[in-house]
Amino acid sequence: MIAVFPEPYPDELVYSVFARYFAMSGYRLYRSVAEDILRDPHSHPDVLFLGRCSEDAAARLAAYKPLGDVVMKHTMFPCLARFWLSERRRRTFEAITRMEGMLLRMARSYAAHTNVLRYCPLCAEEDRRELGETFWHRVHQIGGIAICPKHVCRLVESDALISAGSPRFVSAEEQVPDDSPVAMCQSETEVRLARYIAEVFDSDIDLDNAVPVRKFLVSRLEGTEYLSARGQQRDMVKLTRDFDEFYAGLDSNPLSELWQLEKVLTGASTDLVEVCMTAMFLRVTPEELANIHLPDKTQAERFDEAVFRLKGEGKGPTEISRRLGASVATVRTVLRKDGIEMGGRKKRSNCKGGAKPKDWEQIDREMLPKVKKVVAEMKGDGSCRPKRVSIAAVERALGLATRSLSHMSMCRREVEKHTQTSEEYWASEVLWAVRQMDENTIPMRWTDIRRLINIRRKDFIACLPYLREISENNGEYDRIAALAHGTV
Ligand SMILES: [Zn+2]
Repeated sequence: MIAVFPEPYPDELVYSVFARYFAMSGYRLYRSVAEDILRDPHSHPDVLFLGRCSEDAAARLAAYKPLGDVVMKHTMFPCLARFWLSERRRRTFEAITRMEGMLLRMARSYAAHTNVLRYCPLCAEEDRRELGETFWHRVHQIGGIAICPKHVCRLVESDALISAGSPRFVSAEEQVPDDSPVAMCQSETEVRLARYIAEVFDSDIDLDNAVPVRKFLVSRLEGTEYLSARGQQRDMVKLTRDFDEFYAGLDSNPLSELWQLEKVLTGASTDLVEVCMTAMFLRVTPEELANIHLPDKTQAERFDEAVFRLKGEGKGPTEISRRLGASVATVRTVLRKDGIEMGGRKKRSNCKGGAKPKDWEQIDREMLPKVKKVVAEMKGDGSCRPKRVSIAAVERALGLATRSLSHMSMCRREVEKHTQTSEEYWASEVLWAVRQMDENTIPMRWTDIRRLINIRRKDFIACLPYLREISENNGEYDRIAALAHGTV
């Protein structure tokens, strides 16, 4: 039975609160405190997330703030999942809040960066001066940041292990010595980046925001020299070169290769540090990145509008292409697309006096619920095979004329939020096939998956990063990955 329970400090890890409870409880044995705090006293405490704690401990935490807020503000959840696709992010958040312990896989993804808790000697000094004790700060545990964003000194590794060793509750107060050496960071770029990441990490997460971060980042390439005038082609070589130069002041740059940046821009990587590095380079502010939304119009649409405006002013394709910095061929394609012939005449309409102009705004509003329904049906609820979401597919499903959606901005944005790359689509198909087999208790075999959804092995392997994004945290992904790598 818990008697007095400490209130979490701002940015304190839940594990640290439990460790302080141990220190103040007067217990001498780990086992005694484990019985108070953990649902299963034999299990390991979850250092970075919430794990499965006892009802009593959960109630004590909830007395200070709702458990959902505890997950958001006192665990490493935002570092792990902020940029995941919205469905997986919400599912994981709810699972952690319900305390369906998933520490193993999540702790493993952390082990790549560090396997011990870290601290800032100056924060510890400040805490002891102001609070009388120090604690484990979340912001010092973000893999990929080696300095304290506040004091810009190097973080120090403690002996407190994150995912190995015998189970313990180790408080920062007992681990952090008074006289740790302080080494200041000399790199301006590293300081700027650390502060940027820390600000994004600490910002509230809108679980309902369904905009994939890759689409946001690509939208921020618009208007830069890395994208062609109409936004259809990327100059990844130049982008990578400038990116490397921008981050030349870092000791190590995890995105120094073209394929690594490509992974961020295609959504195969949603790592907090990698996304932040890309965004900071593209002059996205931390506030913008913490609350992403897509522009009302894509670069292609703005380009097309400019073409038609200039056409309306009587300019020819050559003049338009010169003004917009695009090739004449691109301008001609745009003009042809809308039925304007090269001589400048509009195609004659069959109706007398021309077609009546449509009220696209009203149609847009009326169609939006239908579009949402069709998109949800295409993505599937797991019971029927998913279909690939694309502008053309939605237009077909609703019986709309080709390119109708280009006139309906709300509907188009809704579809764009859910459009999938081939790899993303294959991933959802594989997941559907695997769950079909599970439901019918058929052993999972590669030949059956291939037969069911007609996928090539090469494509199966290519979609694995996306499968990781959308699979449940119950070992589903590991089983599929083992199949793809031929170990089953
Ligand atoms: Zn500090």
